[in-house]
Amino acid sequence: MDAQISFLDRLFSAGLLLDTGVDGLYGRSGRFEDVIAAFERLIDRTGGGDGAEAIRFPPGMNRAIFEKSGYMKSFPQLAGTIHSFCGCELDHVNLIQCMDAGKDWTKEQEATDIVLTPAACYPLYPVIAQRGDLPADGGLFDLQSYCFRHEPSKDPARQQMFRMREYVRMGKADDVMEFRQLWIERGTDIMQRVGLPVHIDVANDPFFGRAGRMLVNNQRDQNLKFELLIPITSTENPTACMSFNYHQDHFGTKWGIQFADGTTVHTACVGFGLERIALALFHHHGLDIEAWPEQVRQELWG
Ligand code: ATP
Ligand code: ZN
Ligand code: MG
Repeated sequence: MDAQISFLDRLFSAGLLLDTGVDGLYGRSGRFEDVIAAFERLIDRTGGGDGAEAIRFPPGMNRAIFEKSGYMKSFPQLAGTIHSFCGCELDHVNLIQCMDAGKDWTKEQEATDIVLTPAACYPLYPVIAQRGDLPADGGLFDLQSYCFRHEPSKDPARQQMFRMREYVRMGKADDVMEFRQLWIERGTDIMQRVGLPVHIDVANDPFFGRAGRMLVNNQRDQNLKFELLIPITSTENPTACMSFNYHQDHFGTKWGIQFADGTTVHTACVGFGLERIALALFHHHGLDIEAWPEQVRQELWG
């Protein structure tokens, strides 16, 4: 625990992250962003020849779509919703009085049509379903979004607002599995090139409650999720810096994404945790980018 606090403090002292007073909510310095931008260019060079369609959604998504996705069934503890003041002038007077008195003013806030995006690929599926039948060779998409998860922590690698870069493959089961395997190999190779020690392991999502335990077992038994792990704040518990998820036909069925012959598509996504990768680079190579090994600098900045 102490080691975690001190890495966060060192990041603050070096000016790489800026303290906002909330655990897991940080400002980023220009140098921190340079590392993320360089790493994203490395991702682009690796996956750029595959012909993925680039799409960028804002960090909020349609609440109705979020509700239908089932996120609240699986991960209610992580979700964040956007609420706003929707009252009249009298309500406003009451609101200000309430704030001046130091009372809880948030009770009167009403849910808007927007929730915070929990994972970069969530807004994609219904948009693709809307386009109609998928061609026989399926589809490939390149996404990046800030994501929100309510998991405040002193571990700088566990933030509440962070960026996820994703590739999402939709297609036949074999094609989707091949895509996932390809990125497990590519991810391992990229990390090794920038001098980061990695290993791949089977993983699970933090499904809520007792009913969730069954979903955890099912996910692990079927090898639906793998993670690429790098030690950042702990060597015993290395941090997931990439995830490789096979959803089977879950999202295809949920959103009605089909081929022309009426069969449902399978989907998989691979996600890069961009802040985590930057933090792994700072942890392993030091807080002074100028002093990073020449080979690492070469891979990132050419
Ligand atoms: P963990 O097991 O560490 O909670 P996760 O399984 O929840 O990670 P995913 O849901 O697969 O992670 O998210 C995709 C990627 O986003 C992860 O591989 C990770 O790199 C990154 N990520 C997830 N949660 C956070 C977070 N709280 N802060 C920073 N990056 C995160
Ligand atoms: Zn995804
Ligand atoms: Mg998590």
